[in-house]
Amino acid sequence: MQIPFIPKDAPFSEEQKSWLSGFFAGLHSRLSIQGAPAGAAVSAETSATAPVVNILFGTQTGNAEGVALDAAATAKSNGMAPEVQALDDITLEAFAAMTCVVIVISTYGEGEMPDNAQLFWEALSADTAPRLENMTFGVLALGDTGYDDFCQAGKLIDMRLEQLGAQRLVTRIDCDIDFEDPAASWMEETLPKIARELNAGQPSTPAIETGAQIEPPAKSKWSRKSPYPSSLAVNRLLSGDTSAKEIRHYEFALGDIGLTYAAGDALGVMPVNDPALVQAVLERLNSSFETAVDGVSGAFGEALQHRFEISTPSRDLIAAVEKRAEHQELSHVLQHGDKEALEAWLWGKDVLDLLQLLPQGALSATDFAALLKPLQHRAYSISSSPLEAPDHIHLTVASVRYRTHGRNHGGVCSTFLADRIETNGTAGIFVSPNKSFRLPDDETRPVIMVGPGTGIAPFRAFLQERRAGGASGANWLFFGDQHKASDFIYEDELSELSAQGVLNRLDLAFSRDQDQKIYVQHRMKENGKDLFAWLEDGAYFYVCGDATRMAKDVDRALHDVIAEFGNLSADDANAYVNNLKREKRYLRDVY
Ligand code: NAP
Repeated sequence: MQIPFIPKDAPFSEEQKSWLSGFFAGLHSRLSIQGAPAGAAVSAETSATAPVVNILFGTQTGNAEGVALDAAATAKSNGMAPEVQALDDITLEAFAAMTCVVIVISTYGEGEMPDNAQLFWEALSADTAPRLENMTFGVLALGDTGYDDFCQAGKLIDMRLEQLGAQRLVTRIDCDIDFEDPAASWMEETLPKIARELNAGQPSTPAIETGAQIEPPAKSKWSRKSPYPSSLAVNRLLSGDTSAKEIRHYEFALGDIGLTYAAGDALGVMPVNDPALVQAVLERLNSSFETAVDGVSGAFGEALQHRFEISTPSRDLIAAVEKRAEHQELSHVLQHGDKEALEAWLWGKDVLDLLQLLPQGALSATDFAALLKPLQHRAYSISSSPLEAPDHIHLTVASVRYRTHGRNHGGVCSTFLADRIETNGTAGIFVSPNKSFRLPDDETRPVIMVGPGTGIAPFRAFLQERRAGGASGANWLFFGDQHKASDFIYEDELSELSAQGVLNRLDLAFSRDQDQKIYVQHRMKENGKDLFAWLEDGAYFYVCGDATRMAKDVDRALHDVIAEFGNLSADDANAYVNNLKREKRYLRDVY
């Protein structure tokens, strides 16, 4: 899965800022000569000479939207009149009429377009797409180099625009998760060059007066680079003794530090690696905790514990091990470029498992450190509403634990939360806003929520929010997990919400309580008539949880229900769903 974990409230990357400054400054000098583009929709407040730039974003978790808003502020400071929209909010006709476009887009899943760019991409990639000779463009792509299809959505759009005759004004930039350090060195090198080229010296100085009031979104003081050290007030087991899973409820104290959140947002948590794993890695390298290693600041053990990813092996490490290991199977999957075979081979293996393919000490600590990626935060959907929990943020997290290759393995952050923070011990946290996953503004609208397993998290927040706000709209939750006896998490709370008339319908799918698997999508189909009636009544449809299987099956079930109970052909049902997406009534928080 590829959801860039670049927090939306992190400082706008200097790399991105510089790229945008260069783009807009270059654009401005170009358009100043040509004059304002014909037919451009200049806002009433904007000077007649300010050229319009359309800043379009495709986002799954809100990051690209945040970057687009920052881009608008940069555009304005360079004399542009920016107009910001989601890609799916524009028709292809309107797009074809634009003369200057910046697209900020993240890649989701295995190289997929984010939800709110899918309709746009379908139209743009069709044979019927119009020529775009009058358009100049730049693409800023967000992604994660941990995936094969790094920034694929941005690459596809960039290539397609060129195919359709649009002129690329600047080379696309592909941003990885950890962008700050490369951004700083890029800035040092590139900014002076841009300044010389533009002969402006100060690209941030407004070139012409505009009245457009685009301000960068308010940034939280607490971000990935500067997380808030919050104390963990509650760590409670939700799943029962007989469960195959360990699902826990956490509450982080916010104190009096101005950290705010909204139902639908995610929380970034900075994990600390397991000291036992760190020690085992050090031993494998014939190194020790206090050793100084070239290129690594501080003690090597400290760096392994706090700053390097040692659970998921990086691509560089895999390649380096393959070169030295004479391991037939690994060589075979790498040489054949078979992605699925490599994934299957890698399943469950951490950095130590790879090191164990080499003789002890075969890789020096210095070489090894150069092959590691930085340790990233993990993001979890927040499971509380600030209206009911103003001083705490709640999380609902399944601990990842498994035994393979002769030893116990654990998810970095889920076991950090479960095992390695004492009560009232602290962890670095920050809120990652997700404006694309919100309750309807109109509180009378009905809401349908599909959230099996820990996918229930944001819906607990939504239900709290609807209760606290006294929303009159009806609420319907589809929930499930393996066994009712051990996995019906938050059962008491859901009963209370039902008794209070907040949760109007609850349909449960416990997959392993009978011979045949029953999943949430089966419950959707059984209740298809009512589900369609709710949609017709203006309901919003939300999905949270597993992206690879559940969300796809739920999507299919939604199409089937609409076709059957709306008496529609498959094409018309598809158009119905597309319309839900366009109206932002089909929203997903899946990965
Ligand atoms: P889970 O593994 O998704 O299992 C929950 C229930 O879904 C089980 O009863 C499972 O049945 C069933 N299930 C399996 N395949 C399904 C399918 N194709 N369609 C519908 N239901 C299916 O639960 P989890 O352990 O809580 O993990 C949830 C997943 O969602 C993880 O991948 C996690 O990363 C993701 N997630 C994301 C967020 C977020 O913040 N966006 C939040 C929560 C979870 P069986 O096991 O019996 O097959």
